[in-house]
Amino acid sequence: MISVEAALAQLFTLIAPLESEAVPLGEAAGRVLAKSVTAKRDQPPFPASAMDGYAIQSADFKVGTRLSVLGEAAAGARFDGSVGAGQAVRIFTGAPVPQGADWIAIQEDVDAAGTQITIRAVTETSAYVRPAGTDFKAGQTLQAPLILTPQRIALLASMNISEVPVTRRPDVALISTGSELVMPGETPGPDQIIASNTFGLKAMLEQLGATVRLLPIAHDTLPALRTAFDLARGADLIVTIGGASVGDHDLVGDVAQELGMQRAFYKVAMRPGKPLMAGRIGNAAMIGLPGNPVSAMVCGTVFVAPMVRAMMGLGQHPAPHQNAVLAQDIPANGPRAHYMRAVLKGGQITPFKRQDSALLSVLAEANALLLRTPHDCARKAGEQVSYVPL
Ligand code: AMP
Ligand code: MG
Repeated sequence: MISVEAALAQLFTLIAPLESEAVPLGEAAGRVLAKSVTAKRDQPPFPASAMDGYAIQSADFKVGTRLSVLGEAAAGARFDGSVGAGQAVRIFTGAPVPQGADWIAIQEDVDAAGTQITIRAVTETSAYVRPAGTDFKAGQTLQAPLILTPQRIALLASMNISEVPVTRRPDVALISTGSELVMPGETPGPDQIIASNTFGLKAMLEQLGATVRLLPIAHDTLPALRTAFDLARGADLIVTIGGASVGDHDLVGDVAQELGMQRAFYKVAMRPGKPLMAGRIGNAAMIGLPGNPVSAMVCGTVFVAPMVRAMMGLGQHPAPHQNAVLAQDIPANGPRAHYMRAVLKGGQITPFKRQDSALLSVLAEANALLLRTPHDCARKAGEQVSYVPL
């Protein structure tokens, strides 16, 4: 048996970051920035008013000072002259601050009468002038790789980047195998069940940014599996579900081998999970997951998602771990890493009593996988433990 870490290291050798492509900014959300981009301008490009009021010289900011108003500066329409002692320009938020002015008296603190104003209060301590380049300066870069969150999309827009270099979406082909499986919505025969983890994995990998193709279910026959692999052509990653053990009907390995896969078969020391199959077929990486619904989903979280992230250029990292306080005592762990379905609430984590790898109802209630390392000793309530968020 090999450890989860060793298995993941082997899987990373099967893949490489994909190439980049340029997409319009409006379609870049959630994608991975593939190359660093540089601001083309200062923001703001001029000293800008942060308030509605009057642009003046700070020396004139005294109670009772009377100033004559020369004109107006609005957002998008500057005042061309300059402001001297005893003078003011009516100004609005976002407008360029006129030359000579270094202070905005907010309109609430000013009495206006015709073209004259009088400073009524000087409680404000801020000049309300945003110097040019306060937010960022031309030449400032956003470093790749980076997931383009809504916040970063806004920053890119402000930097005047209209086309963004992002990593191409991995094309993932999902093959469910099993003569007992039908698609949701179909009428199952008496001995049949509905393919479930297939849809869970699709959702998981799409959330990461992959394009996922659901191929027709392959029955446990060689021709059906050959057809499925044929349909997977062009994929960057082929994920099979089920049929990867050593039973008489587990034919995925045989067909993958026919197609030239250097078959790597790992007995991974983890629960839930079974032997995992992996290799390369043509230009694609291939990973064969166990069919048990929870095993497939946990292996998706622990192995497939890190592979997809690495393909998207985010580096070779295991599923992110965090720490929480254990809410109850738990017994010592056996020789395999255990990913216990658990609920995290208010910083406290509680594993479910039922940990059978067929129970999707339990997985659906879980929001964390409590991580037990091999041979972890018994743990007491109140101890720090690590978990993988779901
Ligand atoms: P296998 O890995 O093919 O031996 O399957 C292990 C168990 O998982 C069996 O009970 C299968 O019926 C079930 N199973 C396999 N594939 C799926 C799937 N895509 N969705 C739900 N259950 C599955
Ligand atoms: Mg099967």
